[in-house]
Amino acid sequence: MTRQVFIDSVPMGGGAPVTIQSMTNTDTRDAAATVAQIHRLEAAGCEIVRSAIFDQNAAKALRDIVDKIHIPLVADVHFDYRLAIAAVENGCKKLRINPGNIGSADRVKAVVDCCKMHHIPIRIGVNGGSLNKENRANHPDDPVEAMVESALDHVKLLENQGFYDTVLSVKHSCVRYTVAAMRRLHELTDYPLHVGVTETGSGEAGLIKSAAGIGSLLMDGIGDTVRVSLTGDPVQEVLAAKKILAAVGVRKNDVEIISCPTCGRTRVDLLSIADYVNEHVRHDAGYLKIAVMGCAVNGPGEASDADIGIAFGQGNGVLFRRGEKEAAGPTQEILDRLVREANEMLTH
Ligand code: SF4
Repeated sequence: MTRQVFIDSVPMGGGAPVTIQSMTNTDTRDAAATVAQIHRLEAAGCEIVRSAIFDQNAAKALRDIVDKIHIPLVADVHFDYRLAIAAVENGCKKLRINPGNIGSADRVKAVVDCCKMHHIPIRIGVNGGSLNKENRANHPDDPVEAMVESALDHVKLLENQGFYDTVLSVKHSCVRYTVAAMRRLHELTDYPLHVGVTETGSGEAGLIKSAAGIGSLLMDGIGDTVRVSLTGDPVQEVLAAKKILAAVGVRKNDVEIISCPTCGRTRVDLLSIADYVNEHVRHDAGYLKIAVMGCAVNGPGEASDADIGIAFGQGNGVLFRRGEKEAAGPTQEILDRLVREANEMLTH
């Protein structure tokens, strides 16, 4: 089991639930716009948010931002130790910085002392695209080992200062490299691990790469916090992360709708039915497995295996609840009953 750190009151590692995080893409200096985006992320289920701190004005804006949000904010800082200190002093709850990139041991010590005083953990985030020359040269044909070596070099700098509230991540745009590197880190250290695949792109391709990489790691029991990286509205990252966590069974905090792929036997518009169920059942009241199936071949089995489900025929359907056949009737009537009962089951 990994060791545990706290991002304000949110535990990470040590068996705590895997948290969902995202990153704002507003100009952090625009506190109002950043707060508005964080409120949207909170509403979607984001539990930790990160913002880029790229100059002193962005660091100062943190003061206004953190007072108006309800989840801990991580300051993402590169190269400049003074910005890291300013971000901590202005209220960030975690720092993402690679200590090897901020210069002398004195500077690392200054950041570490500030983090210790404010009880702020540090995430070391190694990215395949920004590996230093030395790590590349040591492993010219092995980007995985180069990334792992880089992460451990950064860790050493913090450990040399007596700092252990560290979270680690290694990300690459290649899913295989990311997964292999994170597995190595899992073997070699007990620091909490932040998992994600970086620069995956937008839309479906990005979602699939993220799901393949993050899902593989989570199913190995690797990962204490998740960030899906997608080009576009960060709210989509949060929704995707929730779905990935639910798909691999790590966190079940939404309904799971099972619907068959349809085939020549289907006699109902199952796509519209699945969409109707998705739109009308509650998504904020916990887990329930709901099945909508197209016919009597696999339908009754799946429907009775779910918490509640329907096997449809031509113009009608059979409703199963907790494995028992409960009712039969015309399509819309049985569908409305399923939605009504599912929502009751979710709230009782
Ligand atoms: S449940 Fe029935 S309709 Fe749906 S894919 Fe299977 S056989 Fe076809």
